[in-house]
Amino acid sequence: MTTKPAAAAARATVYGYPRQGQDRELKKAIERYWKGRVDADALRATAADLRRTNWHQLAEAGIDEVPTGDFSYYDHVLDTTVMVGAIPERHREAVAADPLAGYFAMARGTQEVAPLEMTKWFDTNYHYLVPELGPETEFVADSAKQVAELREARALGLTARPVLVGPVTYLLLAKPAPGVAADFEPLTLLDRLLPVYAQVLADLRAAGAEWVQVDEPALVQDRTPAELNAAGRAYRDLGGLTDRPKLLVASYFDRLGDALPVLAKAPVEGLALDFTEAAAGNLDALAAVGGLPGKRLVAGVVSGRNIWVNDLGASLATLGTLLGLADRVDVAASCSLLHVPLDASVERDIEPQILRWLAFARQKTAEVVTLAKGLRHGTDAVSAELAANRADLASRATSPITRDPAVRARAAAVTDADARRSQTYPERTAAQRAHLGLPLLPTTTIGSFPQTGELRTARAALRAGRIDTAGYEERVKAEIQEVVSFQEKTGIDVLVHGEPERNDMVQYFAEQLTGYLATRHGWVQSYGTRYVRPPVLAGDISRPEPMTVRWTTYAQSLTDRPVKGMLTGPVTMLAWSFVRDDQPLGETARQVALALRDEVNDLEAAGTSVIQVDEPALRETLPLRAADRPGYLAWATEAFRLTTAGVRPDTQIHTHMCYAEFGDIVQAIDDLDADVISLEAARSHMQVARELAAHGYPREAGPGVYDIHSPRVPSTEEAAQLLRTGLAAIPAERLWVNPDCGLKTRGWPETRSSLENLVTAARRVRAELPA
Ligand code: GLN
Ligand code: ZN
Repeated sequence: MTTKPAAAAARATVYGYPRQGQDRELKKAIERYWKGRVDADALRATAADLRRTNWHQLAEAGIDEVPTGDFSYYDHVLDTTVMVGAIPERHREAVAADPLAGYFAMARGTQEVAPLEMTKWFDTNYHYLVPELGPETEFVADSAKQVAELREARALGLTARPVLVGPVTYLLLAKPAPGVAADFEPLTLLDRLLPVYAQVLADLRAAGAEWVQVDEPALVQDRTPAELNAAGRAYRDLGGLTDRPKLLVASYFDRLGDALPVLAKAPVEGLALDFTEAAAGNLDALAAVGGLPGKRLVAGVVSGRNIWVNDLGASLATLGTLLGLADRVDVAASCSLLHVPLDASVERDIEPQILRWLAFARQKTAEVVTLAKGLRHGTDAVSAELAANRADLASRATSPITRDPAVRARAAAVTDADARRSQTYPERTAAQRAHLGLPLLPTTTIGSFPQTGELRTARAALRAGRIDTAGYEERVKAEIQEVVSFQEKTGIDVLVHGEPERNDMVQYFAEQLTGYLATRHGWVQSYGTRYVRPPVLAGDISRPEPMTVRWTTYAQSLTDRPVKGMLTGPVTMLAWSFVRDDQPLGETARQVALALRDEVNDLEAAGTSVIQVDEPALRETLPLRAADRPGYLAWATEAFRLTTAGVRPDTQIHTHMCYAEFGDIVQAIDDLDADVISLEAARSHMQVARELAAHGYPREAGPGVYDIHSPRVPSTEEAAQLLRTGLAAIPAERLWVNPDCGLKTRGWPETRSSLENLVTAARRVRAELPA
């Protein structure tokens, strides 16, 4: 490789690192602080230790420029709210009295004040706290956290680059504050916000920052011309400042599209772009705008979101192409490494051969360093790394784990007919009615019942070997007995077994499917101190034996009423796992669907007449760009139908989703061809029922009448009133009565009262129906 000036300058960097520490020390320290067991100074000391450890880890691995300001006690968007002084009115007093306690009050609420709302960070499983803004919002710069963390890193002798959430993204992620008109657009506050960013930039420069990274991931979504204009204005203004560090505007998760020419033209010194598969199109688009002459390009070629080893040869080829397109090319992970676990090398239960296919944050950091070295000194300088990488990729590509001929042959043989039920809904519904003999407005629940402390203790005892499998299963059966007898006594029409054997549903199924791996330490922040350990969908998927049949049939043996079988759907199984990146998602979904189809068919064969396949993740997996959505929805709905279409016409298929706004996927929901869908609706006063009706949804639906997110017990009349509202949109023959979602996070006392009221409400409204 000839060493061009851009190559000679190549540096390795990342935008952020897992915050929690090797043993989730941060989580533990924060929770101890909340319980009053350690004071704020002790928590701050733990946090500073973790930051230092991370920076050392990065520097020792060979990262040339470390990020600062990416650390957070809870969430980086909340940190930005503090940085710009947009503290909601109701939290100001608490924040003024004690900034740290006030910060956590904004995140979690207190007895007196509600927290900020939480929602997903783009299409990741990380949740941020939504800024609340209004026409009265006044911003005030508070650069203390950013400046302090920059100083810490510099004191260690490191070259550090502060990372900020950009002003355009911050405003686009915000919502109107309580009491502000719903059509208020936070982006109208841009001119008021930019001076605050100017102040923060000046403070960071004074503290020694040569570069500051400003993240604008919102620009990878479809944006209106007005929004693109605002972005152009923001970076013209910030770029025009004299007292500022060099600016690196970063984007990730998808292609920049129309925002690319806007940023390329802006008077900033650098752009960071995602060049992974997820953002396909950036490379061509960059060439089309003539590259970034005179600018620094940071190339995110190592995925910051999946956990697979990078194809270093392919990345070096991409980097080689980029050399001609910018003044200087640096190498990075595509986004903050916050979204992957810390270190794969500590996993003891994964076979060494397979472990070599995995790259968590530490391994990704090493990949970035290798790539930068390869770019600077040519491929010969990294020939050993490249050879080892080629061997790992080859072992993955040819392994029987990723290539199971039986699974592949079966998936290849799928026909349209396999994904279509043998009768239309009107024909099926008659058969189901005759078979099930349910009343009008039938009552049911979404699946889980309260997960008692006893159950969790039993699971822990099983893991620790204090009880054996038989002892654990006795415990689970006792729970099923209780749940079934409660539902019978209360008069619920379609029963469930209560899912006591599952702690996390995706994990429960992943553990039983061949092709999935579990990690021991693969924690990823979901929100605040909540970390999840997503299973790794590594290979071809098959189901060696039935997964749920014995629990459902046990429950059915206890009652004459129908017991609903309960499964997690293929899209959700993918969405809440780390998914393989070596084949299209649709192919992986099809394999999972076929495995679940066997379970559905076995449930039916064992006498189950009602089977629910949950797809709570169908909507959140929707691609960021509208143009990519039809392709996704096509494979997603096919996977659901493939899972469910193998049953007899008189077997009733249910599905469940829990979000109130689903306007943009209502056609896809129709395309699932489920006989019954239950949806979250209580808080939005049955809005979902009206939307379904407006769409002409032809099948049965159960908009939730009990908000399970709150311990509050809805009164009979309140539930009845919601049902009457539902009846205005959906006829009685097609309306079901159920809660919004599963009950596993609720306690027994409120669950009991709420479900009793729900059944009484159904009876009351049934009695009002015209004869
Ligand atoms: N059947 C699951 C339950 O009741 C559904 C969970 C979900 O929708 N997230 O817990
Ligand atoms: Zn739900």
